[in-house]
Amino acid sequence: MPTSYLSGLICSTCGNPFSADQVQTFCPDCQATLLAAYDLESARRHADRDEFSRRTKGMWRWREFLPVREEANQITLGEGDTPLLPIPKIAKALGLTFLYVKEESANPTGSFKARGLSAAISKAKELGIEKVVIPTAGNAGGAMASYAARAGLQAMIYMPKDTPRANVEESRIVGAEVVLIDGLISDAAGMAGIKAREEGWFDVSTFKEPYRTEGKKIMGYELAEHFKWELPDVIVYPTGGGTGLVGMWKAFQEMEALGWLKNKKRPRMVSVQASGCAPVPRAFEKKAAFCDFWTNASTIASGLRVPKSFADHLILKCLYESNGTAIAVDDEQIMKAQKELAVAEGIFAAPEGAATYAALKDLVAQNWIQADERVVLFNTGSGLKYLDRT
Ligand SMILES: *Cc1c(COP(=O)(O)O)cnc(C)c1O
Ligand SMILES: [Zn+2]
Repeated sequence: MPTSYLSGLICSTCGNPFSADQVQTFCPDCQATLLAAYDLESARRHADRDEFSRRTKGMWRWREFLPVREEANQITLGEGDTPLLPIPKIAKALGLTFLYVKEESANPTGSFKARGLSAAISKAKELGIEKVVIPTAGNAGGAMASYAARAGLQAMIYMPKDTPRANVEESRIVGAEVVLIDGLISDAAGMAGIKAREEGWFDVSTFKEPYRTEGKKIMGYELAEHFKWELPDVIVYPTGGGTGLVGMWKAFQEMEALGWLKNKKRPRMVSVQASGCAPVPRAFEKKAAFCDFWTNASTIASGLRVPKSFADHLILKCLYESNGTAIAVDDEQIMKAQKELAVAEGIFAAPEGAATYAALKDLVAQNWIQADERVVLFNTGSGLKYLDRT
């Protein structure tokens, strides 16, 4: 087997191909994200599913379906293979039988952003990129800074000045330059874009480069493996940019093409946002193909404070195709859910993660979830990262 079956990149809108051995951003014609393609036909013949389960734990054990060609370029801090924890007390209280938390706070830098940035920084290094810039609501900046330090790349970060203090400190200590701005992540994105164009920094913004999605999709491979190559019935995902949602949906398609899945059943994907910034639930309600920009976005769940994702179209497509839904919960519900999850199960979730539990309560009350369905909540980060605001 090759180290990676990566065959190229494809525009998610027009389907045009792009080389994966040159630096790429997004499709210039469609202003749409590029997705990595793999030679899955060849992989289907040569890749033995069960061999992956015998390898040393971590995200890179799936290297054949990650975009890096040389093993020496895999920049790892031990990301991936996070626990899938049953939460039986909460399950019982809700009348459910199979309820789990995918505990992503166990990742390096305390959030699942590590997965995406491990993949993106590794590929950037492989392509000879020397300096990287990112606009961030917080955790992506910290993760990028750490992987850039390990790869020996220069890092620059734009974040709103009210981002949790942990994100500023974790970025600075590993050597990144942090610029605190008076505005939201969308304003930070504008500034990072200018920096990229004028000074040749590579912009690692969500979906504006192809590879963060690849790191995050591995959550889908891990779930399939855990459930013995069937998939859970419902996945509840706190959505900002939507990388993990779109990534897992892509992983399910890849595993289908590989012949790894026992049946055609797919999880219903649930996108959770905060009522102070809920472009996805609003668009979903209208059955729209795109989101409207959410003005005056505000929530304690900083990772969800994304007024409009660059890949809003792909997020919504995944919700429609999976018979999923989108739901907003307010900050009060989030704080209550955070406390309940901590007391009942010992999990100190990030507000974004707690939001999935708050949403689950609503979904159960609406009978949208049945008692015997297997449900996975995502706790995407550690509550410890939100203790202090700048
Ligand atoms: C970034 C972030 C999210 C949103 O993730 P996306 O894949 O961009 O939608 C959720 N939770 C936390 C803790 C985050 O840092
Ligand atoms: Zn295109």
